[in-house]
Amino acid sequence: MDGVFKGFVDHHTHAVSYGIKKTRVDLSKTRSTSEALSLVRKEVEGSGKKIVIAEDWDETLWEEREFPKKEELDNISREKPIIMRRICGHIAVGNTPAMDMIPDGYMVDKEMGIMYEDVVLYLNEIFKPDYSEIKEAILMMQEDFLSLGIVGINDICIPEYHRAYTELDRQGKILIKVKTFITDVHMDEINSLENTGHVELAGIKIFTDGSIGARTAAVKEFKYVDTDGNGILLKHREYIKEMIQFAEEKGFVLAIHAIGDRAIGEVLAGFREYGDFNQPHRIEHFELATDDQIKEAVRMGIILSMQPNFIKNWSLSGGLYEDAFGEKYKKNNRVGLILRSGGHIVFGSDGMPYSPVYGINSVVSAPFEEQRIEMQQAIELYTDVESENTEVIIENDLVMETLIDGKIVFRRDDA
Ligand SMILES: [Zn+2]
Repeated sequence: MDGVFKGFVDHHTHAVSYGIKKTRVDLSKTRSTSEALSLVRKEVEGSGKKIVIAEDWDETLWEEREFPKKEELDNISREKPIIMRRICGHIAVGNTPAMDMIPDGYMVDKEMGIMYEDVVLYLNEIFKPDYSEIKEAILMMQEDFLSLGIVGINDICIPEYHRAYTELDRQGKILIKVKTFITDVHMDEINSLENTGHVELAGIKIFTDGSIGARTAAVKEFKYVDTDGNGILLKHREYIKEMIQFAEEKGFVLAIHAIGDRAIGEVLAGFREYGDFNQPHRIEHFELATDDQIKEAVRMGIILSMQPNFIKNWSLSGGLYEDAFGEKYKKNNRVGLILRSGGHIVFGSDGMPYSPVYGINSVVSAPFEEQRIEMQQAIELYTDVESENTEVIIENDLVMETLIDGKIVFRRDDA
């Protein structure tokens, strides 16, 4: 891309989580256990953090080719919890104080100090970062996002993140427009959240299935070719109907995660049975929709919040979609078909990676006609009302400057 554009809005982010990760020790470039451990020791001794989490070690890149050991972390500190999360995000190693903090019921090997799956996936909720760390994370995120030309986000949050955003906004530190979506497990706190000039509680995030990578996306016509399962349906139409009712009464938007056609079908059934609605409710991802489901979603006016970058990441021959669904994989992320059917799409990245330019290039050069759209259309789907009075200058796919209300909020050093 080259030229001057409106600022982008990323409609599906986990921006605070991204920022939190940035505040932590990065082990991705370490080449030995001792190198990794010395970075962790420096953080434990040098930072005021009550819990030290280090991210992205990969033992296959280390001389020793072994997981770090609980004893090695205990040697650094027996008081302060230390956690080292593996690059895959599904395994972590902790010292004794860290293991002691994990509630019962999680998959852990206390003896070895190894944590598996849920406890690692929800690390931020079990080992909660300090409120000050959350605020620091938001500011770090904002700087990076402005450098990508992003002036607005729809961020999936827990209530504490929303509060941190509004506090920073009252101090005049929030430049981008933030719409938050609170996950439904935190519904009880939703009435206590306030809006500020740049920060708005937009709605509620609901999960109805898992992911294709884990083969937990709930599918029917899209059959997994490498497993007998058909994914996991987490919510049924009755729940969707209840939530539509609640959201309509309170003026909230629902953002409903549904990837597989079985999950999408269940969500559509919820809307069909509920009847007319007024809020701009959305289905997140909508990756594996059948022809009929596309028609029905379009007819009911449901907004489809899709990730164009997924096409470049996984839709090429030999990629994740083909591995999972064989020949049928070509029917993934049919952005072009949906638009030509009159559908309403908004684009977001889901952080894979954060970069509107990457997503726009991905969908413009998509391998299948039903996925592909024109550059101008793709740019529009990556903008929104928050893009008004903003400007991004791009050269060779690189954002050189971002302006909000005529003020330069990012300028590349060599620009
Ligand atoms: Zn997401």
